Amino acid sequence: MKEFLASLSASELDSRCAASGFPKFRAAQIGQWLFEKLVPDPEQMLNLPKDLRRRLKEEFFAPSMKIAEALPAGDNVTKLLLELHDNEHIEMAVIPAGDGRVTFCLSTQVGCPVGCRFCASGRNGFRRNLACGEILEEFLLGCGFLGRRCDNIVFMGIGEGLLNCGELFPALERLTDQEGFRFAPRRITVSTSGYVPGMLKFAELEKEFVLAVSLHAPDDATRAKIIPDPLRFPVAEILRAADTFRERSGRLVTLEYTLLAGINDAPEQGEALGRLAFAHHAKVNLIPYNATGGEFRRPAKERIAAFARAVAGTGAVVTCRVERGSGRNAACGQLRIDAERRGADAGERSLNTPNEEKSK
Ligand code: SAH
Ligand code: SF4
Repeated sequence: MKEFLASLSASELDSRCAASGFPKFRAAQIGQWLFEKLVPDPEQMLNLPKDLRRRLKEEFFAPSMKIAEALPAGDNVTKLLLELHDNEHIEMAVIPAGDGRVTFCLSTQVGCPVGCRFCASGRNGFRRNLACGEILEEFLLGCGFLGRRCDNIVFMGIGEGLLNCGELFPALERLTDQEGFRFAPRRITVSTSGYVPGMLKFAELEKEFVLAVSLHAPDDATRAKIIPDPLRFPVAEILRAADTFRERSGRLVTLEYTLLAGINDAPEQGEALGRLAFAHHAKVNLIPYNATGGEFRRPAKERIAAFARAVAGTGAVVTCRVERGSGRNAACGQLRIDAERRGADAGERSLNTPNEEKSK
């Protein structure tokens, strides 16, 4: 399979140009287009000779994806539906904050093998991992859409990134490479459903990345109602892995908690969550559920407030995600499901859902 131009490091660009008989300064020019001007398409790299541009287009995916739709999702958030080279779809979100900073929310997989019961991302099962170059192209397409670099990146789109360490970690390396995209690790958050082996590998990087753990329940019995077997790990193991990450990275971990009415929103559960968070020096971020169809409901405002008070009463730090996007487009994974349904309705393909973990 072809490589992705966006995944090449500065030194790889050097060696590829040399091997193809192009002078070294051409590699530096391509690097400038990618890493500084944030342009992934050789056709737009106007200071390159035509034959080099043509070779790049022929030999690499450059770019491999395009924006199929840009949809407002409320609160100035824009959801981008991206169409991949094999006609699969993923989503990213462009999220402006009040202070002018912009966060990109990026996907790491097509579908998700974890299949949390409330989440649209895993609804049609797991298709495939994104390649390192595709993860970087998401970032580049977002920059093209925004007209500049974003300030923060959160891997909270479709997929369980820590089940795709083999592609996500090289992408993190490129993003933070001083000869690459030069992002500070503390501006990049990886969110996990609590996949312990991946959390421990992430800790081994010993970089100041931010780790967010989607706990959703303080006890295993409640968690089992939300996250199915076999990719659900015990709460105690997850918190031990979070401790390891904190010790190795020097960063406090965030515990994310999607509030589902009647399942995990009782004040006693809030208190139990707060005690765990306090003991493990973790912050709590509450995310009121965005409806995706199905059995779950978002708790009423007063119930959410009472839950937050119960967490805070233990001394733990708690925030509640400000409404980020609303309505149909807000819940991640929904646009992709809609696009698949349109494709299936048009008889383009059938949906098969291999539920396996690849490329650990
Ligand atoms: N797989 C990773 C990252 C992607 S999901 C993880 O689970 O952490 C990112 C966050 O969005 C998770 O905390 C998840 O619980 C939350 N989320 C997904 N769908 C949601 C929905 N419909 N409503 C509220 N939160 C949702
Ligand atoms: Fe996958 Fe995260 Fe959605 Fe769970 S919440 S199905 S882990 S994307």
